[in-house]
Amino acid sequence: MHSQFGSTSAYWLANKATDEFYHGTESLLAYFWESCWEELTKCMIAPQQRTALHVYLQYLHDFTLNFSTLKFDRETVFEMHFRILNDAKIPFSMSYPDFKAVEECASCGSCRACRHLKEYEETVAHHLEQAMRTIEHAAFHLLVHNKTFLNDFNMYLAEKLQDNLPRLGDLYPEDFTEVLKLRTPKFWPLWLERALVYREQGRCAVCGRDVSGIMNLKSKYVVGYLVPLSANGNNDPTNLQVLCLHCGREQSERLRQSNWRKRLFAGFSGGPHKTLK
Ligand SMILES: [Zn+2]
Ligand SMILES: [Zn+2]
Repeated sequence: MHSQFGSTSAYWLANKATDEFYHGTESLLAYFWESCWEELTKCMIAPQQRTALHVYLQYLHDFTLNFSTLKFDRETVFEMHFRILNDAKIPFSMSYPDFKAVEECASCGSCRACRHLKEYEETVAHHLEQAMRTIEHAAFHLLVHNKTFLNDFNMYLAEKLQDNLPRLGDLYPEDFTEVLKLRTPKFWPLWLERALVYREQGRCAVCGRDVSGIMNLKSKYVVGYLVPLSANGNNDPTNLQVLCLHCGREQSERLRQSNWRKRLFAGFSGGPHKTLK
């Protein structure tokens, strides 16, 4: 399943993702929200297997490829597409087009070289979409261990969420509290818990205690946030982590103390945390 880890394109995309995020132009990030806000909001409301980070990676990937078709000549773009297919390990056995012959016939469109090029381009285009999604998935797995980036990425989403309240609260009234914070989902899907435990290698993300049940059959965990909901955090898997019961309690205690006044007036939801195991 993770055989694409070595792919050059995946490393390139993962680097591009952090590079653009920290050092890129602000307009690219602003446009990211503008063009993807609906999908991002869906990710923030309840965990999706296609996370907000996948959405960001696809946005960057599409953007870069579209840009390259404007900036570079046909052959260079073609080589980029070919590399993507190769990196995604999509089997491909057609012989390489004869660009020189095509140039010599001034792209007549009917000679052998021209027809071959056309067929080649159509085949590449046909597989390109799937290849790009494979590379984005591999890049996601490279980035998902970078907690600093995940934290900052979710701070960015928190900022966008804040900027777009109360409009989003009006659009999705059931998913927000009266003070316009996202609600915790009624339950966490099993695939999510598995993925979070897997990512932390069966340990609490804060203290490293075993939560997998391998070392200690009684070990239990809770799902915690990087950016808390009270600070406009969200329910995307990239904003979540597994914590042992001790660290989970400490985290919610800290949040309660920093928010007690707000909670007092907003009405305390009460009851034990729904995700306690
Ligand atoms: Zn020709
Ligand atoms: Zn812990």
